[in-house]
Amino acid sequence: MRVLVVEDERRLSDNIARALRESAGYAVDIATDGAQGFYLAESNAYDLIILDLMLPKLDGQSLLVRYRKRGHETPVLVLSARDEKESVVKLLNAGADDYIAKPFDLGEFLARAKALVRRGAGQHSPVISIGDLQLDTVSRSVRRGNKEVALAPMEYRVLEYLGHRPRAVVSKTELLEHLYDYNWEKFSNVIEVYISGLRRKIDDCSDEKLIHTVRGHGYVLRPSR
Ligand code: CA
Repeated sequence: MRVLVVEDERRLSDNIARALRESAGYAVDIATDGAQGFYLAESNAYDLIILDLMLPKLDGQSLLVRYRKRGHETPVLVLSARDEKESVVKLLNAGADDYIAKPFDLGEFLARAKALVRRGAGQHSPVISIGDLQLDTVSRSVRRGNKEVALAPMEYRVLEYLGHRPRAVVSKTELLEHLYDYNWEKFSNVIEVYISGLRRKIDDCSDEKLIHTVRGHGYVLRPSR
């Protein structure tokens, strides 16, 4: 999962980014003004956008209106100041999905962010079940049958992305776009390494395989019957 944070207060954007990376395992890009935010939002594949209202160059509301007009459906969580109640109503009517008033508790912020990422993928429960595989996106823990599976952080992130799109064919390019921020050089062979690690930990112990390769297209997470 990959998140764009559009916020000009450096300390706040750093705190938010750290929380999203460390407590949610998301890849995070930061834009410090509205124009850069709009550019990044248009040119990358995000699962959530965190949007401040008062921004240099292009304000949050104009950014959102322009972004929705182009047909983008990525969920948007607005950061508002206490005295911005009226703007919040306008923003929700302009296509924002939720808001949180500053100053906010990071725990509440993370819970809202995760809920929006889930809903953006059409998933309402925090626990994703595929056959007898259970992925708890709150505790970031995985079980196959009644056995806990220990995954490396990147393996978990690959599995979580596939779990948010069960039965869909997900290409290596899509995985790379959603699992790394813009500072990373992207090599598609690393995905093969994580997939083989996941197969070893999740599928080798069972007769029912859940991770399937669609040759030339990508991977699918689904029960085999
Ligand atoms: Ca601001």
